[in-house]
Amino acid sequence: MIVILDSNITEHSQEYQHALAYLSRLPGISTRVHKVEGAQQALTEIYLIGDTKTLSAEEIGALPGVERVVRISEEYRILGRHRDEQRISGFDYNGVVFSQDNLNVFAGLCAVDTPEHVELMMKALREHGQVCTRMGAYKPRTNPYSFQGHEKTCLPYVFELAGKYGIKVIAMEVTHERHVEEIQECLEQTGQPTGVMLQIGTRNTQNFELLKAVGQQQAFPVLFKRGFGITLNESLNAAEYLASEGNSKVVFCLRGVKTNMGDPHRNLVDFSHVPVLKRLTRMPVCVDPSHSVGSRERAPDGLYDLMHATAQGVVAGANLVLVDFHPAPAKALVDGPQAMLLSELSWFLDDVAAARVCYEKRQALAERYGL
Ligand code: PEP
Ligand code: MN
Repeated sequence: MIVILDSNITEHSQEYQHALAYLSRLPGISTRVHKVEGAQQALTEIYLIGDTKTLSAEEIGALPGVERVVRISEEYRILGRHRDEQRISGFDYNGVVFSQDNLNVFAGLCAVDTPEHVELMMKALREHGQVCTRMGAYKPRTNPYSFQGHEKTCLPYVFELAGKYGIKVIAMEVTHERHVEEIQECLEQTGQPTGVMLQIGTRNTQNFELLKAVGQQQAFPVLFKRGFGITLNESLNAAEYLASEGNSKVVFCLRGVKTNMGDPHRNLVDFSHVPVLKRLTRMPVCVDPSHSVGSRERAPDGLYDLMHATAQGVVAGANLVLVDFHPAPAKALVDGPQAMLLSELSWFLDDVAAARVCYEKRQALAERYGL
């Protein structure tokens, strides 16, 4: 059960103290206070943990300072929607809004290789009015002899160039909690020229100790990738680790699942789960067409498979697109064959915008015809 307090209630107010004392006295129930910062307002939620079935929601709802009480299912307590349309969803980070209602594109390098390529990428993004990108510094590789990323050595120039070109949020995978500290330190040393959204890769979806560590920090939001070999429910429970540790600024990213049934694509594209995630949770939903499709094959209509996959996600209401681009894919150290070219950036963004218009028209139709 979640007890949501009035938005003007602070932890020093009498109502807060009274409500918390009352709830803490309930037999067999423990409380956990969670502050939710949305794009528009901040709220305090008190989670009641234990057997809440016999508690009266009316009685608790009548306590001074309590706005409302939501009965929740056991799963995804914090990130879940629990059929409550009024709870805050989304967040603001470094001036960029992430929610279930808008759309941001993160086009960029799968892996940082040279400062020249980073600069060419960021320059192209600025020319196209983009403020988000992806830049991999820590790469989890299948083969231990493959390039593992430039790690912290590339951070200073990545962050400085981001500042130079007005990039506000960089999606960057971390595979160890040490990487979070390195990112934080480097941002401080370079004067906070940009922001970072920490990416949890599909290989680490159930690395619970990493999730706890990333969940315990509040400085950075998280882009959480679906596990490629587990159920959606298992991935959602894993994402909830972040929130249960204190960080609910989480975007959930679909990136395909591993099965030969997806051949010739690298993974089986799972973007039909976009509306499922929006129904079950309050997280903005991302699609990663690059790691799903994994090639530059085109259909006879001239469109790349990965553009078709992107459009499928966006037409279904996706809120972020994470996509590999590279100024010289032949020289890329990771995933060159699936990268889009900088000369294709306008086309890609226009195609995404067309798909978004289609989604908005479909939403209007749902309002007109929906019961
Ligand atoms: C990536 O986005 O660079 C990546 C490695 O993705 P995934 O974890 O989905 O394989
Ligand atoms: Mn990659």
